[in-house]
Amino acid sequence: MRMPVAETDVIIVGAAPTGLTLARELRLAGVRTLVLERLPEPRAVAKAGGLGGRMLEMVRYRGLLDRFEAASGQPRPAPRFPFGGLHVDLTELVDPPMQALLLPQPQMESLLEKLARELGAEIRRGHEMVALRQDDGQVSVDVCGPDDAYQVSAQYLVGCDGVGSRVRQLTGIPFPGITYPEVNRLGSFSMPDALTLLDDGDYLVPGFGRLRSGYTQTANGVFAISSYTPHDLGVYTSEEENRTYDDDQPMTVAEFGDSVRRVLGADIPLGEPTRLTRFTFHARHVERYRDRRILLAGDAAHLFPSGGVAVSAGMLDAVNLGWKLAGEVKGWAPPGLLDSYHAERHLAGARTLLHTQAQVALRRGLDAAAHALRDVVAELLLDDPARRRVGALIAGADLRYPMPGADPHPLAGTFAPDLALRGSIGSVADTLHAGRPVLLDLADRADLREVTPGWHGRLDVHTAEADNRPADAILIRPDGHIAWAAGVDEPAGTARGALRESLSHWFGLPDV
Ligand SMILES: Cc1cc2nc3c(=O)[nH]c(=O)nc-3n(C[C@H](O)[C@H](O)[C@H](O)COP(=O)(O)OP(=O)(O)OC[C@H]3O[C@@H](n4cnc5c(N)ncnc54)[C@H](O)[C@@H]3O)c2cc1C
Repeated sequence: MRMPVAETDVIIVGAAPTGLTLARELRLAGVRTLVLERLPEPRAVAKAGGLGGRMLEMVRYRGLLDRFEAASGQPRPAPRFPFGGLHVDLTELVDPPMQALLLPQPQMESLLEKLARELGAEIRRGHEMVALRQDDGQVSVDVCGPDDAYQVSAQYLVGCDGVGSRVRQLTGIPFPGITYPEVNRLGSFSMPDALTLLDDGDYLVPGFGRLRSGYTQTANGVFAISSYTPHDLGVYTSEEENRTYDDDQPMTVAEFGDSVRRVLGADIPLGEPTRLTRFTFHARHVERYRDRRILLAGDAAHLFPSGGVAVSAGMLDAVNLGWKLAGEVKGWAPPGLLDSYHAERHLAGARTLLHTQAQVALRRGLDAAAHALRDVVAELLLDDPARRRVGALIAGADLRYPMPGADPHPLAGTFAPDLALRGSIGSVADTLHAGRPVLLDLADRADLREVTPGWHGRLDVHTAEADNRPADAILIRPDGHIAWAAGVDEPAGTARGALRESLSHWFGLPDV
């Protein structure tokens, strides 16, 4: 084995949604980044079907929405979102809190890889991390590459290596939780000629009769059927099975048809498949996201037992971690900054586990009481406030990180609202493309701007006007969360001190 051939700032293990997002975030901050991926080629197996919620907002805040929409080729639906064996219809809400973009995971990964490479991330495919060790100064790993084995070292290493994370195992971080016995299968098809879509959304199946749109609990599991358009058909089954499957082994149409027959007790016609996935649900959460110089993100750190949220959760880990690691590597990070990654993202993971676990309870039961519970919840979800609340929960839009200080402004800790701005910048989202912290002065407060010169190397300051400004100024972190806000007409004395404290807390000491 050769001795170290390369030194870098951060090694990322795993080039999938989480690792590739982190690679771009680190490159935005000028951090040398090496991504090791054991697969020689991008994975072709369909997993997630798209991206939604807060991460889709974040994509927009980075100025990348056009690229994602172009890769998707689909209009952005405000979906009938699955929630605990029910569908939540968010389409009728004004400004729905949950939006999603259809973009199958292989295409998403290919775009993310391109975006990371464009900013100079080094991505080595066919390079498997097989061992690692860390000391006070660095982390080093043994890598099995296509041509030889070698070692490489870095200041930090992030395990974005998925459900069976080798990084997590080698670091000895516990991953408590449970794996559910149901095997879930999801198929998207073109609408077959033999199936009739009725005006009320139900289906007429030859030899079977009427099939209700949405979820149906049967004696053998759960069956669901629905269509976004008259030309497509989505079918889902969930059943208990005494065997395990490899997530990277694709599912065939025959396997899917067999499952439909077992769960529904009948065959139904299926069109041409456009996406076939099989998955098992786990509810697992690492006890800690950090072990000194090693960090975990994405599926390596959390697994949720309901669909549609996992990819976004991992990518949001990456956005939270990127600028904090950059602070450590560049030497400006204040004490505790990197530990706030665990504090904040463990909180976020726990919140996502809370509603995805609640969905398990809601969808699993087959007895009359369970049916009654689903009916009651379905009724409640017809009310706009309840739908909005659940939409925000799924989107992760209700997350508020605790912020230091005695009496933080109500906006502190929340994701910055995309206020329309008058002046040279169109909106708040436009200020975050570069992934740098931003002080947005909404009331021409020279007294507050005067506090900032010591941080100008790492802070952007903008003055703009907004209708009904919610604050005189907001300090926005690179991950879009508000670190601090000055109340409307807040006196200079208190506001200046609090701004200085917040700048020091998140972005270190001012340059002299
Ligand atoms: C069938 C299926 C359907 C799904 N549907 C959805 C959905 O609709 N919505 C949703 O949000 N989520 C869905 N998910 C979950 C989603 O796919 C995962 O949350 C997501 O892939 C996690 O991304 P990640 O980057 O954290 O990890 P992964 O995607 O698991 O990537 C880990 C990467 O690390 C690499 N790696 C592992 N070990 C090493 C090593 N030692 N050295 C080098 N490289 C290594 C792997 O090859 C892999 O490329 C689905 C999952 C499955 C299996």
